Amino acid sequence: MLAALVDLVLPATCALCHVPGGPLCPGCRSAATSSLHPVPRLTMPDPIPPGMPSCWVAGEASRALRAVVTAYKDEDRRELRVTLSQWLAPALRAAASSSPELRRALRGRGLLVVPVSGSPRARRRRGDVPLLPLVTDAVRALPGRVVVAEVLEPTRVTRDQSSLSATERATNLGGAMAVRVRHGPVVEGAMCLVVDDLVTTGATLAEAARALRAAGSGHVVAAAIGATRRHAEVASRLPVPSLERVRGGV
Ligand SMILES: [Zn+2]
Repeated sequence: MLAALVDLVLPATCALCHVPGGPLCPGCRSAATSSLHPVPRLTMPDPIPPGMPSCWVAGEASRALRAVVTAYKDEDRRELRVTLSQWLAPALRAAASSSPELRRALRGRGLLVVPVSGSPRARRRRGDVPLLPLVTDAVRALPGRVVVAEVLEPTRVTRDQSSLSATERATNLGGAMAVRVRHGPVVEGAMCLVVDDLVTTGATLAEAARALRAAGSGHVVAAAIGATRRHAEVASRLPVPSLERVRGGV
C-alpha cells in the first residue's frame, strides 16, 4: 500500500540498484535473467536429502536472482510479481509435463499445485505469503486443470534456516509439515507439484513431499525459480545482508 502511494508521487526505482526506472533497470534485469537457463533444468542438491522430489528450476540462484526474490518478499517490492511469475512459469511447465501420470492429471482430475508453507515466524514478519500470488499467476501457463492450494501447515516451531548446514536443515525440518486436516481429501491420491522460490539444500521441498506422501499423494514433483549451486552457497556466506535474508527463506 505504502509502496503504491510512493510510486504515485515519486518515479519508480530499480528494486536492486535504486536508479530511476522500475521495477528493474535494464542492467539489473539483464544480470538476473542471465542466470536463467534456456530451458528449465532438473536439479538435485548435493547431498540429496532423503525423499527429495524431482525438481525443475528455471535458473541458477545467482546473487542478482536472489536479490530480486528478496526485494519482492522482504522489501515491499511486490510489483516484481509479474517478473518473477514469468520466470517461474517455465519450471512449472517442465515439472507438470515430466511424467505420463502428471499429464493425465492435467487432463482429468487436475494437478494439485502446492506452495510450500512458510514458517509462522516468516508469516508474521511479512504479514502474508508472497509465494502464493507468484504461483497463482504462473500456473496460468499450465495446460489443463490445475488447483492451487496451501494444503501444508507447520506442525511445530523450527529454527531459522539461514545459518544451518544441510544436515542441520534436514533435522530442523524433519516432520515439521503436515497436510491440513480439511485438505486431506484433496491430497488423497492427488498428483502434486510443490513450489518454492529458491532451492538451497532441498530440505524444505523434501519435507513438503514427505508430508504430501504421508497424506496419500500419488506422486510428488517440484519446481522453483532458481537453485543454488554448491559454489554459490559458499559465496553467499559472505556478509551480504540481502542474500542472508534469502537464505532465511520461508
Ligand atoms: Zn538496477
